[in-house]
Amino acid sequence: MTEKVLIAGGGIGGLASGLCLARAGAVVRVLERASALTEVGAGVQLGPNVTHILNAWGLSSALESVAACPANLHARSALSGKVLATLSLRDMPARYGAPYLTLHRADLQTLLSQAAQAQGVAVQCDAQVLAVQNLGDAVSVALSDQDVDRTERADALVVADGVWSVLRQQLLADGAPRMTGHLAYRALVAQSDLPVHLRTQDVTVWMGPRVHVVQYPVRGGEWLNVVCLTEGQLEGVALQELQGWNLRQTAAATRADLRAALTGACSALHAVVEACGDWRLWPLCDRVPMCDAHAHVQGRAVLVGDAAHPMRPYLAQGAGMAIEDAAELGHQWTARADCDVPMRLRAFAQARWQRNAQVQTRAMRNGDLFHATGPVQWARDAGLRMLGARLMDLPWLYGYRHGA
Ligand SMILES: Cc1cc2nc3c(=O)[nH]c(=O)nc-3n(C[C@H](O)[C@H](O)[C@H](O)COP(=O)(O)OP(=O)(O)OC[C@H]3O[C@@H](n4cnc5c(N)ncnc54)[C@H](O)[C@@H]3O)c2cc1C
Repeated sequence: MTEKVLIAGGGIGGLASGLCLARAGAVVRVLERASALTEVGAGVQLGPNVTHILNAWGLSSALESVAACPANLHARSALSGKVLATLSLRDMPARYGAPYLTLHRADLQTLLSQAAQAQGVAVQCDAQVLAVQNLGDAVSVALSDQDVDRTERADALVVADGVWSVLRQQLLADGAPRMTGHLAYRALVAQSDLPVHLRTQDVTVWMGPRVHVVQYPVRGGEWLNVVCLTEGQLEGVALQELQGWNLRQTAAATRADLRAALTGACSALHAVVEACGDWRLWPLCDRVPMCDAHAHVQGRAVLVGDAAHPMRPYLAQGAGMAIEDAAELGHQWTARADCDVPMRLRAFAQARWQRNAQVQTRAMRNGDLFHATGPVQWARDAGLRMLGARLMDLPWLYGYRHGA
């Protein structure tokens, strides 16, 4: 029997899940509330745990055509500018069977959308999922389709509507995500617009007290993505605004905030930040790490990506975990084809929740280390100088294989 699956959300998690379920034989429709699939102008790093999956889906040449393949990851002191340690990313295919890539999020979304549609997935924009109800033998999904409200039945609903998931509230009733007290400022700049000494094809993480900056190439290396993560609260911001990718703030105010956050930073780091024009501000929200399989599955509704396990970006793995979720979902759908849908979804949840919890937890810890002050900062820098790449390589993360 061919099952019908609806997916709420056309982000990276929704599209990847659609692709996997269609490959597993389901008839899939992705419902996206926006009027077009438009990822924001920012970058994303994908470790070999993720590119291994994308390669297995036959996307390696599509990836190669848009991604950059950085040779090294440098950890630098934001204060002195000194390189504390370097991890070779060139060796990733030899160590983990797949490369470490950096790309523009819109390119990743386009690539997944095209692959999903080539596999027969229907992607429908202007379709907002309003509510979900488990009926036992089916799931009932209420949606606003081109502004017309209607209800549709399916065998399963994949909830991939992101960190502010309305459907999660209906299914789990566990409140809104929490403000982390961390802010992300991000900018994209053409490498050709940068002075020659600032152009780079490597990933660099600059660590300073209560702040760090990450930079890496995207769009085949032609652009540089720069993200500055600081600690601070935003006063008087409405919930609606928090959900956007660009909190309204004047360019002058953003630049002043950045300069203040980088007080004491070396001139090389200031030069990078000053070279970027269009900074956008993004307050970071997350949830406590998953503590059981419950938050992944409710009857015939399965939560994936940020809807299930939003995390801080300090391991650069949120989209990666959404893609791992999708791969596991497709795997269980096929491996348990003789079981009913709720059982397949429960098997998926059991296989995924601990991995997602571990990554959420390690991401928070990484943030503390990146932003360390005083003796912890001293110990971190000394450890990086002594152990170098051994501290930066993460076999438990990069060597993971779904379904293993
Ligand atoms: C500063 C920063 C840097 C990051 N860097 C990295 C990185 O380097 N590597 C990495 O792997 N991850 C990174 N991440 C994390 C990554 O961006 C997210 O984990 C990932 O985008 C989550 O994808 P998603 O599909 O679950 O959710 P989203 O991308 O939020 O997609 C949700 C989609 O659902 C739609 N939607 C919402 N509600 C509804 C509804 N009711 N009905 C229909 N559609 C709906 C939305 O319009 C949206 O298109 C970073 C995050 C931040 C904040």
